[in-house]
Amino acid sequence: MTFKELNLIEPVMKALNEKGYTTPTPIQQQAITPALDNRDILGLAQTGTGKTAAFALPIIQQLYLNKTHEKKREIKALILTPTRELAIQINECLRDYTRYTGIRHCVIFGGVKQNSQVNELKTGVDILVATPGRLLDLMNQGFISLSAISHFVLDEADRMLDMGFIHDIKRLLPKLPKKKQTLFFSATMPSCIAALSRAILHNPVRVEVTPVASVVDTIEQYIYFVEKQEKKDLLINLLKKDEKKSTLIFSRTKHGADKIARILCKSGIESVAIHGNKSQNARQRALSDFKSNKIRTLIATDIAARGIDINNLELVINYDLPDVAETYVHRIGRTGRAGNAGTALTFCADDEREMLKDIQKLTGKSLVVSS
Ligand code: AMP
Repeated sequence: MTFKELNLIEPVMKALNEKGYTTPTPIQQQAITPALDNRDILGLAQTGTGKTAAFALPIIQQLYLNKTHEKKREIKALILTPTRELAIQINECLRDYTRYTGIRHCVIFGGVKQNSQVNELKTGVDILVATPGRLLDLMNQGFISLSAISHFVLDEADRMLDMGFIHDIKRLLPKLPKKKQTLFFSATMPSCIAALSRAILHNPVRVEVTPVASVVDTIEQYIYFVEKQEKKDLLINLLKKDEKKSTLIFSRTKHGADKIARILCKSGIESVAIHGNKSQNARQRALSDFKSNKIRTLIATDIAARGIDINNLELVINYDLPDVAETYVHRIGRTGRAGNAGTALTFCADDEREMLKDIQKLTGKSLVVSS
């Protein structure tokens, strides 16, 4: 299938050509046509599947064809996403996709001064990308009205729940017009997210891609059975062997992530830890240093790392096993993207062996044991 077959209009096609997209990803193939028909969508998909274009292109095309942006600059589409990093990524995609349409967009998020965001809003935007806290804040101050919203995207709903944003969302929903298109995305569907989706979607088209249990074949997975106290030496040895590789290390806890960073620092390996206790600025800086290869080693908790789009990551190390088997699949999915080879190493102490069994059951693969 090609983008042309999805009936995308010329200004959008031109932007996609410039991005070098030739074929739509599976979620785009499934979601774009019904979304262009103004249907509600329930999308089960994680970052890396191309879901941003799947929701953004139909919205841009509908706004463009209705020419509403030429008549009045008011917010017509709201994209709500849990973190600043995701909000910035989505806004960058919008910049590319709207380039030939005249549609304006901007992004707001917390953790920084509001002035420049407010000034940008005052110039008039058609599409707003926002994190929940800052959105409510600016609404309460009277800088934002959502009364003209015709398209609403709720991105990463399960993560919104993890991060404690569900109340904010419930406060926000009644402020949106009843008549609108809603595009709802979540990587997983725990029961309260399913209930939320039922409450806000009208006769949605359900689209689902890459079930979480499928592990990319290009990822080589190895397991190390180690005593807990030996993990740090093993990590140092492995990193010293592969110094040039970009490595993402997962820790189950924030405290653990900081501890790993200290251990590595002592042995002369430069690294940064990102987790919820770090300021937005510190997280953003760490991420851009990692992406630009200034730092080779990043340590992250699961919540901090989800949704981060890092290309060409060669090595993922699970310093400890996650609490939930599905998280293992999310973690190692950071490597081996777009057909590139990737390696995932997992450290397993005695008390983690049960979890390993769950992971092998979920992925249907037994891991190669290394020593
Ligand atoms: P997303 O899941 O929206 O974060 O997208 C993941 C990555 O895939 C981003 O870097 C996009 O630029 C890229 N991408 C999205 N759609 C396509 C496509 N049809 N062809 C090639 N790359 C794509």
